[in-house]
Amino acid sequence: MRNASQVGLVVPAFNVPYLPMVEPVVRAVVDQDCFALVETARLEWIKFESRGPAACLEEFFKWQKPDYVRLHLDHVPVIDEDNCRVDYLSIIRQALDLGYQSVMVDGSRLGLEENVAATRQAVELAHAAGVPCEAELGAVLGHEAGPLPPYEELFRSGLGFTDVAEAQRFAQETGCDWLSVAVGNIHGAVSGAVKDQKKVEARLNLEHLEELRQATGVPLVLHGGSGVRREYLLAAIEKGIAKVNVGTEIRQAYEAALRESGSVAAAQDAVYERTCWLLRDYFSLSGTRKLVTDSPPHRAL
Ligand SMILES: [Zn+2]
Repeated sequence: MRNASQVGLVVPAFNVPYLPMVEPVVRAVVDQDCFALVETARLEWIKFESRGPAACLEEFFKWQKPDYVRLHLDHVPVIDEDNCRVDYLSIIRQALDLGYQSVMVDGSRLGLEENVAATRQAVELAHAAGVPCEAELGAVLGHEAGPLPPYEELFRSGLGFTDVAEAQRFAQETGCDWLSVAVGNIHGAVSGAVKDQKKVEARLNLEHLEELRQATGVPLVLHGGSGVRREYLLAAIEKGIAKVNVGTEIRQAYEAALRESGSVAAAQDAVYERTCWLLRDYFSLSGTRKLVTDSPPHRAL
């Protein structure tokens, strides 16, 4: 992630709420000669069909190409989208024992002090296992069951945006390696009928993003990458976004193709095509793998 950040590239991270999505995502990343992450979040085991961290890891290891893809544990919430407390440390410990190559703790529904304390514990676990830990500060809305306020209102008011002074303190005190921030990005809806709807086209507050980058000094992560207007996304990469999560875009491609054809193979083809399109035409990353994997990781941010 540091390499990507230094050479002005981004590492896309693809969510796989259905296990058959792993193979076409890996194939697309290899065919486009990119470096990317495959990632799975707790809510995808609960609300979709990826079953759990062990099942995802097993599927990933069937298809993995270590020069091209790594496996990341996305969102382990301390308090989940339905407002329930989660035994987050044991999930993270389990994933580390299984062999996940990076993890995320999400204390963003806590107050600052509690988020710092929870994140620090997760960071210690991850670092003891020799892997990086992502954390989140601010509210990337969208996973919750209720309706979102109108997007433009959200954007104008800066509701939930990551606070710059808090982010500086948070990065210092937690030792997190990557920080997920809220600057206008929103998650794709995951519940009820709205999960099939076209996602709202999000904008990003780039000045705010730049301030966060300078204040924290760590690679920043953009969740809710599907549906961000392309010019904003490319500018955000220049301003310090080093990882972008993509879920809705490829999940809806899989679900729509499966609904139409009844064939998992056809749904996998749809995921392959969509992932190739994202890497090649949206992120413009084709052929950039070596720039990310070969850069010397010595220069501090
Ligand atoms: Zn997310």
